[in-house]
Amino acid sequence: MSEKTTLPFDNPVSLERPKSKRNTYWALLASLCLLAPILHFSSRSTLPHLGCDHHKIYSAAELASAKCPAQPPALDIGHHWDPNTDEEYAGRAARRLSKAVQVRTESYDDMPLDPTDQRWDKMNAFSEMLEDGFPRVYAALDHEYVNTHGHLFTWKGKDKGLQPILLTAHVDTVPVLQDTLGLWRYPPFEGTITVNGTDDTPGTWIWGRGSSDCKNSLMGILGAVERLVTEGHTPERTVVLAFGFDEEIGGPRGAAHLTKAMTNRYGNDSFAFLIDEGFSGLSNDYGAFVLSMGMAEKGSVDVEIKVENPGGHSSVPPKHTGSKPTSCTIRPVC
Ligand SMILES: [Zn+2]
Repeated sequence: MSEKTTLPFDNPVSLERPKSKRNTYWALLASLCLLAPILHFSSRSTLPHLGCDHHKIYSAAELASAKCPAQPPALDIGHHWDPNTDEEYAGRAARRLSKAVQVRTESYDDMPLDPTDQRWDKMNAFSEMLEDGFPRVYAALDHEYVNTHGHLFTWKGKDKGLQPILLTAHVDTVPVLQDTLGLWRYPPFEGTITVNGTDDTPGTWIWGRGSSDCKNSLMGILGAVERLVTEGHTPERTVVLAFGFDEEIGGPRGAAHLTKAMTNRYGNDSFAFLIDEGFSGLSNDYGAFVLSMGMAEKGSVDVEIKVENPGGHSSVPPKHTGSKPTSCTIRPVC
């Protein structure tokens, strides 16, 4: 039976989760679990050698007992803090993501290029929600708006000689077509939280458009930073957070302007690494938690080909038609 719980943002309620199923928070908590150690990890000037032999073919017995050292144990992610067992924090994180889903930020193909156009005003509500939800992050990090609705956070590191790292996400979502509303198990913009909703959704789930692309990343990043800030942590190397607001329609207003701002400030090839969204997941395989890295994602490309040839009637084409394009423009679409 479904237990449906729509919670107010600032009203902490303990969420019961069965201990054996607690990793079903992964969509949000995977970000926390990954990012908190990474932010500590990045404090080190050298990263540890990852000694996994990718060319070896493993026997079934080896696989069964495998614990690849490419998945090193998490470094200290705070003073013995584990987001998987911190019920109060997990509840707050779930409510934050629920609230983020409730603030509608769909991008449409016909959105104006001008970010000050009123059709983009809905992004203001999301910005206000972030500022309300993460006051410590806004107090500890520099925050700038880039091209009106893009967010650029800078957490200054102690060592200016180290390259910064970059964590990215986007505010906007794809739209929900009116005709598909009936296909949603829960309304797409209510941020419904279920606890043991159905057999295929054990544990706690946050439902709605953007709950997995990619408000979960965005809220997870800010949640991890907030936690570290709360512990008084200052990173060795600068940590930059960049959140665009039109990724679903190519990113010319958000990512493009954020890129320009960061390139002006830091130069080309200036980041040690960046983490963006992508298909990944946390699974329990071979006796260990395995977080698959989203190293590649299928995308789409629009190709515009312009062909010019002498005029004439298509019913009597010349021997060679317009086979030589005079221009070819490839526009990657994210
Ligand atoms: Zn996305």
